[in-house]
Amino acid sequence: MDYPRAGAHYPRSTGEFLAWFGTDEDCLDYLEWLRWPGGFACPHCGNAGGWRLADGRVECGDCSRRTSVTAGTIFDKTRTPLTVWFHACWLFATAKDGISAQYLQRALEIGSYQTAWAMLHRLRSALVRPGRGRLAGTVEVDETFIGGEEHGLRGGRQPGKKVLTGIAVEIGEPKGIGRCRMAVLADASGASLGPFVAGSVEPGSRVITDGWVGYNGLAALGYAHERRNQKAAARRGQDPGELLPAVHRVSSLCKRWLLGTHQGRVEPAHLQAYLNEFAFRFNRRHSRSRGMVFYRVLELAAGHDPVRYDDIRATRKPRSKPPQQRGTGHPPSLDRPAAARPWRTAEMQLQFPLRLSGYPGPPFITAAIRPPAPFPHTPVSTSRQRAASHLQGKAWRTRGVRVRAAGRAPPRARHPDRDTGPELLEAGGLRAGLVPGPPGHPQAGPGLQDLPGHRVPVQGRGRRGARREGAHAPRDPGQGR
Ligand SMILES: [Zn+2]
Repeated sequence: MDYPRAGAHYPRSTGEFLAWFGTDEDCLDYLEWLRWPGGFACPHCGNAGGWRLADGRVECGDCSRRTSVTAGTIFDKTRTPLTVWFHACWLFATAKDGISAQYLQRALEIGSYQTAWAMLHRLRSALVRPGRGRLAGTVEVDETFIGGEEHGLRGGRQPGKKVLTGIAVEIGEPKGIGRCRMAVLADASGASLGPFVAGSVEPGSRVITDGWVGYNGLAALGYAHERRNQKAAARRGQDPGELLPAVHRVSSLCKRWLLGTHQGRVEPAHLQAYLNEFAFRFNRRHSRSRGMVFYRVLELAAGHDPVRYDDIRATRKPRSKPPQQRGTGHPPSLDRPAAARPWRTAEMQLQFPLRLSGYPGPPFITAAIRPPAPFPHTPVSTSRQRAASHLQGKAWRTRGVRVRAAGRAPPRARHPDRDTGPELLEAGGLRAGLVPGPPGHPQAGPGLQDLPGHRVPVQGRGRRGARREGAHAPRDPGQGR
């Protein structure tokens, strides 16, 4: 396939995502298209073509073995509905700082934390693309400890419970930060740092490090090695923490991300998976479309081997007490029938259908249109005509929602958050409100009424009538002086 196109190969927005993946069948079809864009190819013998079976699987035309779309991917044997998987993928890929397992569990009604955590961890385990390129150009390399606070250590490279992490960051020309790579290191020796740099940075690149002895072998590995000595910088009066600014920016971003989204509760055994997630999102931070990131996550997930729960679990020791039963752990599908507005009781049902105006129309709700009730009296004078058109065009407000004057919603006298008093609905001796419908429309509708006690001008008086009507307001004696 050519480069994936927005709107055709991946959804551009949450609106398109919801429209595309409403049912589990939609998701299955998308996965099948992702996995076999040119049609079915047997994963056992490589034969192209086969027969689709009634249960959705495909039987190979050559070796007759049966394959499902999800078999052999990270969705292998999953009991979580694909709509839930896709929604988790969408949140995982589009949220700026990712999501935690507890958020996923609560938002998608997943019965157990373990199920939600394992879903996210399966996605994390697929994020490293096989055969991805190494960093090139100018690369800063340093190592840092990531993990909880620990007192009583002398600092520096003394290990504790924290995990030593190697960080390599591309430097842009003339400025800026490119991609990053992060890996958990056994220690800060040259035997650990050498393979990390060799696996992360293309040979021949310019590698900038501090003066640590563990980097001594980099020149022998084929890199143009440049040292920045912290003690020399301190003697020059420079801040030794700013010698490798890109690496320190990335490491502090990563630490803040772990503290923020994951509350700092990351087991050392799982840290590499979280580092992969951070680097995946960081390296795509300039991607214009979040849907593209979603596409990449699903593409990697569909191309990744199955991940079993035992593979991602850190410890295999049995629990001291049995787990609490809090549901099945398998969430309900997001493919559901329309809910028919459960917040409205039967007697509260609207008399007319409210509908949102079509996108990209005006952002307010219009009521159903029916012929407006005729005026009981024909407005004849100029001011009365003006008042009538003013009241007709006035948007009536109900519950803070603008409803067009032609709708049937009765005008509300007062809204607690909005200063719309009843006086706004009266002018020129007319009042906007519910009036009896015209013949054939038994229901009352919006219309204009004469204010009680107001003298209606008689047709035929022309300008004189208008003048007399306008003159009825008493003049403030203080005016005109
Ligand atoms: Zn086959």
